[in-house]
Amino acid sequence: MLLDYHMHTRLTDGTKEPVDYARVATERGLNEICFTDHAPLGNRDTEWTLTLANLETYVGWVYEAQRQFPNLTIKLGLEVDFFSDRLDWIHELSGLYPWDYILGSVHFIGDWPVDRHADDWKDQNLDERWQKYFDLWQQAAHSKLFDSLAHPDLPKKFCFRPKVFDYRPALRAVQKGGCAIEVSTAGLRKPCREIYPAEEFLRLARQMEIPITFGSDAHIPEDTGADFDKAVALARRCGYDKLARFTQRRRDLVPLG
Ligand SMILES: [Zn+2]
Ligand SMILES: [Zn+2]
Repeated sequence: MLLDYHMHTRLTDGTKEPVDYARVATERGLNEICFTDHAPLGNRDTEWTLTLANLETYVGWVYEAQRQFPNLTIKLGLEVDFFSDRLDWIHELSGLYPWDYILGSVHFIGDWPVDRHADDWKDQNLDERWQKYFDLWQQAAHSKLFDSLAHPDLPKKFCFRPKVFDYRPALRAVQKGGCAIEVSTAGLRKPCREIYPAEEFLRLARQMEIPITFGSDAHIPEDTGADFDKAVALARRCGYDKLARFTQRRRDLVPLG
């Protein structure tokens, strides 16, 4: 089976509406999709997140897509930024609607954006930045607030990588926290031109029996399910033969591909 568990609408930094993504998913033969628009951050408004005021519109759009595409399974989810001082907010948000899936992500180290501009990375201590990012990622895993963690090695986006990096502490946190990790084809469309996470990372995850979800991180309908053949090939090379699927936050596993 093929499931795309990561997509955005025009209410945030995406384009179009859930029905438009559902149409492409149907054409491409996907079995299931899950919308994961950017959740409100709680204490600050941004241009790229939902607001509390339009959260209901978002949920209504997803339900409308379910009505229009009865042969495609469409799930209701959110992508939620992890901030260690906002755990109560994330908890509250999780109770507002009957979400199927909460995808956690780290886009910020404090106020410093990890994935906005390549220039932000110039003259940075790469070992230190990567360590800080994965420290937060580890905390997100430990929090048990998330079903899966998005684009695991996002700091590689602009090709600023340390020569070596030990992913094992981060993966042990995921294993202990009991969540899944995302295999994201978005990296293929970014300067790094590589799926998130790297093969080395995914092999370790497989050894630790950490489940995976698939996501295109589509911001336009045309990217729904993009490059999933490459994601399937990578996952299989690393030893995976199943994908995680979520219904009302409960996980089960389905055959991959
Ligand atoms: Zn993200
Ligand atoms: Zn996203």
